[in-house]
Amino acid sequence: MKYIGAHVSAAGGVEGAPLQAQAIGANAFALFTKNQRQWVSKPLTAESIALFKARCLEAGIRPEHILPHDSYLINLGHPEEEGLTKSRTAFLDEMRRCEQLGLKLLNFHPGSHLQKISVEACLERVAESINLALAQTQGVTAVIENTAGQGSNVGHEFWQLRYIIDRVEDKSRVGVCIDTCHTFTSGYDLVGAYDRVFDEFGEKVGFEYLRGIHLNDSKKALASRVDRHDSIGKGLMDIAFFERFMQDTRFDEIPIILETPDETLWAEEIKLLRSFV
Ligand SMILES: [Zn+2]
Ligand SMILES: [Zn+2]
Repeated sequence: MKYIGAHVSAAGGVEGAPLQAQAIGANAFALFTKNQRQWVSKPLTAESIALFKARCLEAGIRPEHILPHDSYLINLGHPEEEGLTKSRTAFLDEMRRCEQLGLKLLNFHPGSHLQKISVEACLERVAESINLALAQTQGVTAVIENTAGQGSNVGHEFWQLRYIIDRVEDKSRVGVCIDTCHTFTSGYDLVGAYDRVFDEFGEKVGFEYLRGIHLNDSKKALASRVDRHDSIGKGLMDIAFFERFMQDTRFDEIPIILETPDETLWAEEIKLLRSFV
């Protein structure tokens, strides 16, 4: 079965997210558990946590289909000590928030080398950051998202995801999320070479590590290395790709999340995608 939703707003508190997911006909969703543009947020209140859990239960959305996303400020591969420490502290706080909410996954962009260290050195830092966070938490899997490779972001080639996983001590709590827009603009032709791209993913990373999907169309061309999402069917990725994706059982049972720009279309997009199954 396919579990589809969108990255909904938690601006008025995390407890609002399951209501929004329900309103658009979703059976999965993503959210930020704190303000994604600030380093520090107030702790979650007991009331917020209880309401969140009760509403997820009521909506019939299970923790394994909820894919929280961490703050954009965090760089777990930061080349400098100060930035790295700040990022690791903030990431641990994000993991703890997920624990408190009874969630199982935390999705994040691996990091950036900022032209100061090699790609490999950056990936090693990311892996060490994951090890530190996993050692201090329980039950939450660190889910590495592939990137478009914009600027000095790492994680845009499949081998890089594997390089991180290889260095994580607890393999049962590390996974990956494939963002279709990022995959396409980083240079993998999901439209023209669907089988070849996913075969390569299977070989280099492994579907056993796949914990979620960000399903986005792209405003930018193949291999442009620019991260600009578009609504399904409105961008440069052929609708035939989305049709084929929805019929592919390798993507059953994991959260499939829309991060498409027009939220007024989410209900329609979900309906359209379901019609392809
Ligand atoms: Zn994404
Ligand atoms: Zn993106």
